[in-house]
Amino acid sequence: MSRPLPHWLEGLANASRARGPYRVSEAARALHRRLTVIDLHADPLMWSRDLLVRNHYGHVDVPRLIEGGVTLQVFSTVTHSPLGINIRRNRTDAPDMLTALAMICGWPRAAWTSKLERALFQARALELAVKGSGGRMAQVRTRDDLRALVAKPRPGATAALLSIEGGQCFEGRLESIDVLFAAGVRMVGLTHFVDNDLGGSASGEEKGGLTDFGRAALARLEDRRIIVDLAHASPLLFDDVIDACRRPLVVSHTGACSACPNERNLTDAQLKKIAAKGGVVGVGYWKTATGGEDAAAIARSILAVVKAAGVGHAALGSDFDGAVAAPFDASGVPLVTQALLAAGMSEDDIALVMGGNALRLLSEGLP
Ligand SMILES: [Zn+2]
Repeated sequence: MSRPLPHWLEGLANASRARGPYRVSEAARALHRRLTVIDLHADPLMWSRDLLVRNHYGHVDVPRLIEGGVTLQVFSTVTHSPLGINIRRNRTDAPDMLTALAMICGWPRAAWTSKLERALFQARALELAVKGSGGRMAQVRTRDDLRALVAKPRPGATAALLSIEGGQCFEGRLESIDVLFAAGVRMVGLTHFVDNDLGGSASGEEKGGLTDFGRAALARLEDRRIIVDLAHASPLLFDDVIDACRRPLVVSHTGACSACPNERNLTDAQLKKIAAKGGVVGVGYWKTATGGEDAAAIARSILAVVKAAGVGHAALGSDFDGAVAAPFDASGVPLVTQALLAAGMSEDDIALVMGGNALRLLSEGLP
């Protein structure tokens, strides 16, 4: 069994600017209750925190997802994190902080060195949380699972879908994709903070395009109906994948350069390319995604994505627990609905952004 980090240490990594209960208007709460809410990216699995109890630190656990009216949360697995991590440029050979985290949190020996084992360990942690949740959290692996989830909404329950952040955990073998699929992985980000053997990272050293192995991996992922995620992709990788892919893509957690320009966010041209492929862009909640520190800034970023890509292509991608400060935790997601109402968005459009668009993409994309 693994153990969580000391609370104060994890609290530094995953801070919330405000703690619940949050003040949300009755009108926003009433609308939020009627919505299917889907968040395309959060990283609680890497912290070994107990997801079944309400924690007073970090952003995501089952009680707070339920309180926040989240229908489906995508849980990502992190397998590499370079020392001195930043959004501009990270050395490929920088020491890997995940090694230290795996040792401190008591992950199995194999996960100290193997990135594939790290992903599988986090996949098992999610599975155990689902099993131990007493029906409060389901895991979505197929479009039938998804259909059942939205056909019979249960206010006292939430659901999870498993993803990975960076194909470095394939460890150079296409067969790893099959192993990860069997472990429940249904979404894959090709790169994370450093360039890897699939291609370049937006925050990497070379920031190159798709490699031969990356091209083969992309084909295998699409054959398996694993949804490809271009969050963290370099501009060259982004364009190579847009040209080579056959199925709609996601960018699970990002921002719009028109609202907050930096290496990690998408230009209007990139947003239009995702939309042209039928894809969906999850807007993050952290400061360099939105350019601000509250729900109003998140709403402004969502509107920037809608302006460039169209209302059918914007979604949520909080990056909760991704070693970022957020304005609120998972119990505060109704604040986003409230901010979109305040920004003048129609209820139908809010329903698309809060989950309708992600639901369409997952319904088409899952096996
Ligand atoms: Zn990320």
